Amino acid sequence: MVQYVYEFSEGDRNMAGLLGGKGANLAEMTRMGLPVPPGFTVTTEACRAFLTTGAEPTGLALEVSDHLTTLEQAAGRRLGQRDEPLLLSVRSGARFSMPGMMETILDIGLNDDSVLGLAKSSGNERFAWDSYRRLVQMFGSTVMGVDSARFENAMARLKEARGAADDLQLDATDLSRLVEAYKELIRQETGEDFPQAPAEQLRRAILAVFESWNGERARLYRRREHIPDDLGTAVNLQRMVFGNLGSDSGSGVAFTRDPATGRRGLYGDYLPNAQGEDVVAGIRNTVALTDLEHLDPRSYAQLCGHLRTLENHYRDLCDIEFTIERGTLWMLQTRVGKRTAEAAFAIAAELVDEDLITPDEGLARVSGDGLARLMFPRFDTSAVGDALAHGIPASPGAAVGAVVFDSAEAVRRASTGEKVVLVRQETTPDDLPGMVAAQAVLTSRGGKTSHAAVVARGMGKVCVCGAEEITVDTQKRRFRVGDTIVEEGTVISVDGSEGTVYSGAAPLVDSAVMRYFETGERSAGLVDAVVGAMQQADGVRRLGVRANADNPEDAARARRFGAEGIGLCRTEHMFLGDRRQLVEAMILARADAERERALDALLPLQRRDFVGILAAMDGLPVTVRLLDPPLHEFLPDRTELAVRIAAAEAHGKAPSTHDAELLDAVNRMHEENPMLGLRGVRLGLVAPGLIAMQVRAIAEAVVERKRAGGDPRAEIMVPLIDTVEELRLVREEIERVLAEVSKVTGVLVDCPVGTMIELPRAALTAGRIAQEAQFFSFGTNDLTQTTWGFSRDDVEAAFFSAYLDKGIFKVSPFETIDREGVGRLVEIAVAEGRAARPGLKIGVCGEHGGDPDSVHFFHSAGLDYVSCSPFRVPVARLEAGRAAL
Ligand code: ADP
Ligand code: MG
Ligand code: MG
Repeated sequence: MVQYVYEFSEGDRNMAGLLGGKGANLAEMTRMGLPVPPGFTVTTEACRAFLTTGAEPTGLALEVSDHLTTLEQAAGRRLGQRDEPLLLSVRSGARFSMPGMMETILDIGLNDDSVLGLAKSSGNERFAWDSYRRLVQMFGSTVMGVDSARFENAMARLKEARGAADDLQLDATDLSRLVEAYKELIRQETGEDFPQAPAEQLRRAILAVFESWNGERARLYRRREHIPDDLGTAVNLQRMVFGNLGSDSGSGVAFTRDPATGRRGLYGDYLPNAQGEDVVAGIRNTVALTDLEHLDPRSYAQLCGHLRTLENHYRDLCDIEFTIERGTLWMLQTRVGKRTAEAAFAIAAELVDEDLITPDEGLARVSGDGLARLMFPRFDTSAVGDALAHGIPASPGAAVGAVVFDSAEAVRRASTGEKVVLVRQETTPDDLPGMVAAQAVLTSRGGKTSHAAVVARGMGKVCVCGAEEITVDTQKRRFRVGDTIVEEGTVISVDGSEGTVYSGAAPLVDSAVMRYFETGERSAGLVDAVVGAMQQADGVRRLGVRANADNPEDAARARRFGAEGIGLCRTEHMFLGDRRQLVEAMILARADAERERALDALLPLQRRDFVGILAAMDGLPVTVRLLDPPLHEFLPDRTELAVRIAAAEAHGKAPSTHDAELLDAVNRMHEENPMLGLRGVRLGLVAPGLIAMQVRAIAEAVVERKRAGGDPRAEIMVPLIDTVEELRLVREEIERVLAEVSKVTGVLVDCPVGTMIELPRAALTAGRIAQEAQFFSFGTNDLTQTTWGFSRDDVEAAFFSAYLDKGIFKVSPFETIDREGVGRLVEIAVAEGRAARPGLKIGVCGEHGGDPDSVHFFHSAGLDYVSCSPFRVPVARLEAGRAAL
């Protein structure tokens, strides 16, 4: 018989898969002896069973009622009994935290009778009715499906009628009327009464939490965070404690450190006389946690103690939710807290310094994505004018965009490519699509732990919250700061690191971390933290990191960023610009002599390119790829030419012979599927002299560098090999030219000749190809295109978003390598290539080389190096280190 229910005292933090994160950590805190209201957890397994069969799993109801009985006995009270009722919260909690994405229902057990009992036993009538109206509202919306805005409107109407500024000014009579209004609303909307029986409330609440796993918001959040859809949520049932019992009660959230910067010290928000969800919802403005010291010194001291205990126990930043009931502190939740990239590096460095964690653990806690974020530019504060408004720096970064006031507008504008900033009084989970679409989120209310702040940090999105000078008018679609009115569509700049907002588009400057990589300058504590992590990564990684660069500037930058060579030097860019004419001449050449003249003219230009790159990468390998794209890419556009000729004819002139020849060539060379056409090695084999010219340029550049006392390490790479025969022929020609240059110059030019593996056939025959290849480099862009059979240039816009929506992809295979298909080809080629040629050097070039997830795959596939764009080099180094942990 499966066990579907665990007491808090039975679980621990390692059971998050079964008990969800919240349940596992409630169990852990219970074990640690922290004051947690008693309760138990219904497992994610029960949820999965319910979601797949649509029926409550057998035995679950019985198990729940057994555990409830135990809880009731310990409390000496029964759920929802008439006098002094026991009340429960029913809380969702999945494996991975999904803040505010699913449902929680408080005060289960109240009904028309027990509300009177609660009023009597607590001696606080207002509190009892406040709790009841919360239950009816949460149950009505979450379980019975009534739009929560209907409840909020009823509340707003009542507040207006009573002239109440906030909910605290409503008294017991007001609230009891509100309960009646809510119940009537439910009746009208659902044709059903709010259920009075506590057992029914409980049962339906549990099932509603199960179902909330598949709610729209939750699904969107999971897709964005790459959380699998089949995990399900656990449900925690817990005795209620009350923060809304008066001014000696309240609720709050706290962090053991600042989640935005990692700075040590208590951070948080507290709301007197409130239940927990009020804090996050931003119903009233919270006070800083430090104010609690004056409000309730004893609870404050206890809280500080518990936070220290938790940080030492978890050895990481923790965030918690707590409630004080009439001077007694209760811990309601903890978890290892989400944090910004900056905080992640700062905290890891500090905990390593304190010997609380090892350097390897420190490395595990930072990420390449985070590093990339720290390399983004910041606003140039010396060049911006006065700030338009100030708020709380909730999630760092610099963003510029047009102001929008609701989620739908944000999504609409973003879909046309416009950059937007979502401005709200406060956000709710319904704003999630807009937050995803926006560059930044700006709110006028709420603290560092408000919904906007927490969700934005999780997404790495810029956020300034609690900008109280701003008055948001959603109806008129504008906001006001003092006398300034900002209409929808106006561009503003949001600095989430400083908490400032500027009008217009503020200019950007490099971040301190970027400056460090560029110049070695260490201008901030954060830079030291990054350097520490990079050193650790470089010390443990097995994968080499090279860069894709095809000019000396990029090569030099890549080297500053730590590249250990060039994994892909494309030569096609060397054929553009003013060299186009020479290339045209080569293509149009009728006779060998004509072609040779064009090639001869190109040769010194190519040589100069290579000399510069080899100099910038002196002593490190530079893998040069022979020309890859179809030649007609270097010719003018067919339509353009045809129009030019037609225009000339219309004016009664004869078209230039050059144009006519060009059009003729373009027509001759036209391909329906250029990606699968005459390109790569095929080109070299049919276009006479091209390979020889390129190889000669490389070889002569090597000679020139050697004569200058340098240490050039060129490697020659042949693209788009299908079969070993192609490589054999090309290699003969390459070696002939290398030998010739060596002989003529008297300088030995000895470049390894290797190939790209970027077609499935090459991967599958890698053993044979390795007989001719001195190294392999996976071209995973083409390998992905040809394995899946779709062209990146055509299909991404056409159907990828539909595929992502339908869950066919979790992520685009061009972004993160498809391990199952493309990855398998890589593994086969590595195994068979190395079997044929032991020690064969194998790398990867292409976008995947700088993608964290893919780097981990290439590490485990046994590659020697990854190659990526210069700016991604630090990211790849860091992730290569993390992959080796
Ligand atoms: P979320 O996952 O959205 O944070 P929670 O399950 O933590 O949802 O519940 C939301 C709020 O309800 C919490 O902040 C907490 O303060 C309050 N709450 C939950 N359970 C209890 C309880 N047993 N007693 C008092 N308040 C509770
Ligand atoms: Mg919570
Ligand atoms: Mg390719």
